[in-house]
Amino acid sequence: MKDNLTELNLKFVGNEAEDILRYFLNLYGDKVALASSLSIEDQVLLDMLLKINGNAKIFTIDTGRLPYETYSLIDRTKSFYNYNLEIYFPASTNVENMVNERGVNLFYESVENRKLCCFNRKVEPLKRALNGLDAWICGLRTEQSITRQNLEIVEYDESNLLLKINPLLHWTENQVWEYIKENNVPYNKLYDNGYLSIGCAPCSRAVEPGEDIRSGRWWWENPDTKECGLHLKKVEQNELPR
Ligand code: SF4
Repeated sequence: MKDNLTELNLKFVGNEAEDILRYFLNLYGDKVALASSLSIEDQVLLDMLLKINGNAKIFTIDTGRLPYETYSLIDRTKSFYNYNLEIYFPASTNVENMVNERGVNLFYESVENRKLCCFNRKVEPLKRALNGLDAWICGLRTEQSITRQNLEIVEYDESNLLLKINPLLHWTENQVWEYIKENNVPYNKLYDNGYLSIGCAPCSRAVEPGEDIRSGRWWWENPDTKECGLHLKKVEQNELPR
């Protein structure tokens, strides 16, 4: 599969996101999972997946710093679909050591500190969640960031050694909202308060109309550094401080 990515990406040109999901669910069964950040994109994918297979594997990461509204969404999603998202947590010793050495809000002090926090709270639990899978599904869209312009629908994730599937890669934000409204999909209420991209509470904020989607995340940093490590290529991920 890894060697046929060009062929596979050509095969998916013009395909619906549901067709791409169905293809990989049929191929990998419980060895493929949606890594959900509870974004509108991931809620669309969750809805599609559960309509294809009510037992599809979906997990999220509770960094310990999520906004109240995100926890509320986890509960509402559980009730709406009668489905339990699997939740992964950071390793407690990593967080304890980091916070005791560098402070609870270390991420505001330097890019190095911010990347360390993202590594401990997101990347390390993601690696555990991906262990044993053949592929993971993400809600990335090229429109979201300058760091996401060169992605493909199916990629080989060299850092985690499995396929990465981006079925909504070429969707616009309007398409995502249309799907959410048409299908009554539960979404994070912070979007109604001016948030365009929602991560941890101290690192996400509302933005003004017309501002860039990622401008509400790590707003004190240069746009080129604004990835949390979950979606970096291997060489870049290895540069994260451990
Ligand atoms: Fe830490 Fe902020 Fe990254 Fe969350 S988004 S893991 S709080 S630096």
